Amino acid sequence: MTTTRPATLTSEFLDGLVKRVPGSTGNTWKLTEVYTGDLLVELPQSSERDIVQAFADARAAQEIWGSWTLKKRLNVMKKFHALVLENQYLITDVIQAESGKNRRMAFEETCDAPMGASHYIKRAPKLLKDRKHAGPVPMLSNSTEVRRPKGVVAIIAPWNFPFATGISDTIPALIAGNGVVLKPDNKTALSPLLGIRLLEEAGMPAGLVQVICGEGPDVGGPMLANADYVMFTGSTATGRIIGEMAGKNLIGCCLELGGKNPMLVLEDANVDEAVHAALFGGFGNSGQICMHIERLYVHDSIYDEFRDKFVAATKALNVDATYDFEPDMGSLVSVDQRDRVIAHVEDAKAKGAKVLVGGEARPDLGPAFFEPTILEGITTDMLAGTTETFGPVVGLYRFTTEDQAVELANDTEYGLNASVWSKDVDRALKVARRIDSGNVNVNDILATAFASKGTPSGGLKQSGVGARHGDQGLLKYTDAQNLAVLKKQVMEPQGKQTYDAYAKQTQTSLKWMRKTRLR
Ligand code: NAD
Repeated sequence: MTTTRPATLTSEFLDGLVKRVPGSTGNTWKLTEVYTGDLLVELPQSSERDIVQAFADARAAQEIWGSWTLKKRLNVMKKFHALVLENQYLITDVIQAESGKNRRMAFEETCDAPMGASHYIKRAPKLLKDRKHAGPVPMLSNSTEVRRPKGVVAIIAPWNFPFATGISDTIPALIAGNGVVLKPDNKTALSPLLGIRLLEEAGMPAGLVQVICGEGPDVGGPMLANADYVMFTGSTATGRIIGEMAGKNLIGCCLELGGKNPMLVLEDANVDEAVHAALFGGFGNSGQICMHIERLYVHDSIYDEFRDKFVAATKALNVDATYDFEPDMGSLVSVDQRDRVIAHVEDAKAKGAKVLVGGEARPDLGPAFFEPTILEGITTDMLAGTTETFGPVVGLYRFTTEDQAVELANDTEYGLNASVWSKDVDRALKVARRIDSGNVNVNDILATAFASKGTPSGGLKQSGVGARHGDQGLLKYTDAQNLAVLKKQVMEPQGKQTYDAYAKQTQTSLKWMRKTRLR
C-alpha cells in the first residue's frame, strides 16, 4: 500500500506549476493534500487587473494561433495527446493529491482529454471548413458559411474533475482557433496547470491559455466582462449567475450543471450486473460525479434481492487514503463537502429515513472521508430527496409499473443523466426515451454516454444549457459568418418592368424554387 504522497510532487515541481498564475492581490490560497490536510503549495490569487491583462495577453497570442492553418493547430493536439499518455501517471498523482479521489478514478479522468482530442483531431477538418450554400437567386448568387473563432473563451471549471473539465473543454476551444482564460477551482488548480504546461510543450504558443485563480464571486465579473464566450461547469446555483452575466454582456454560454440522477432497474434486469454498476453509480469519485446516481428505483419483484446484494457489496468496498490502485473509493474533496453530505444524511435520518449501510464520517482515514451510504425511505421533504447531495449517498426506492418508474425518474428539476437496466434492450430504450434527461444510459451508468465523444452531452431542465462533445461541442466556440455573393442585381424590377409585373414574376419564381432541387 502506498500511503505516502508520490515523490513526483516536490515543492519545486508544485511551485513551478503555480508560477504562471498572476497574483497581484498579494493573497494566496493554501492548496492542500486532501488525504492529510497538509499544505501542498501557496496558490496566487488574481486581481481584476490581472484578469484584464490575462485576456489581453490571450488575445494577442490568439491572433497568431488563429492565423495558423487548422493542420498546424491539429499537429499541436496530436503531440499533446502523446504527451498526456507519456505523463499519465504524473497527472494522476496531481489529480489525486488535490482532489482526494481514489487512484482508479484519477487515472480514468486522465483518459478524457486524449479521447476528446482524438475525436476532434479527426472531426474538426470537416466541421471548420467553409460550407457553400445556394443563394436566393439560383446560378446568380451563393452564400458561404465561414467558421470564425469567437476570440478568447472563459472556461470556469469545478473541482470534481479538474483535469477533464479544465483541459478537455479547452481543447475544442483551441482547435477552433480561440485563446482561453481558464479559472479552475482553487482547490484543484494544479492538474489544469500541468495540462497547460503540456500544451505548451506540444507547441501551443505561450500565453494562448492563461490561468487566473480566485474565489468565484471575486473573479467572475471581470472574466465575463472580458470574454467572448463562457464555458461553465459547476452547480446550478452558480450556473444561473453565470448565465445572467453572459446575457448582460451579450456573449454566448454553455452551462453544464448539477443533477439528481435516477437509475431504473426493471424486473428483467440482470441483478448482479446492476448491483455491480450501482456501486460505481453511487460511490464512484466518492459520489462527486455530476452524472452519478443518487436515486435508485428497483422493481418491487427484485427489490429485496437487489437491496441485500447492494448493501453487502457496499460493506465490502475498500475505502482508503492511498496512492495505489487498491481502494474502491477515496475521500470527499474537502471538509466543507463532507459537512454538506453529513447535513443531508442527518436531515434524512431525522425525518425518518433508514440507513442500510454507512452514514458516518471517517476521520480515521482522513479529514474529509465519508462512508458509502445507502438510505431507504427518503421522501421529498428531505434535503437528499430533491437536491443534489454530491457525495456517496444513494436513496433506494421501489416501483411496481414502468409508468410509475418513469414518473418517479422525471420527478425532479434536474435532467442530466439517467440509467435504465433490462435484459431487453428495446424495452429499456423505450423507457429511456421517456426520461427527461440529456443523457440516458442503457445497461450502464454514465461512461457510455460521456465517452461517446461524437454525441452532444448536456443537461435538460435545470441541469444546463448547451452541450459538450459532438459537433456542437466544437462549433459553439465559433461564430458563423455568412459570406454572400450576388453576381447580377436581379432582386428588383428590371428596366421598365412595373413592380406589379416584378411581384408576379417573384411569385412564379417562388413556386418554381419550391419544386426544383436548386434551392
Ligand atoms: P460551483 O458552482 O460552486 O463552482 C464551480 C466553479 O465556479 C468553481 O471554479 C468556482 O470557483 C466558480 N464560481 C463560483 N461562483 C462563481 C461566480 N459567481 N462567478 C464565477 N465563477 C464562480 O460548483 P462546485 O461545487 O465547484 O462543483 C460541483 C457542481 O458541479 C455539482 O453541482 C456538479 O453536479 C456540477 N458539475 C456538473 C458537470 C456537468 O458536466 N454537468 C460536471 C462536473 C460538475
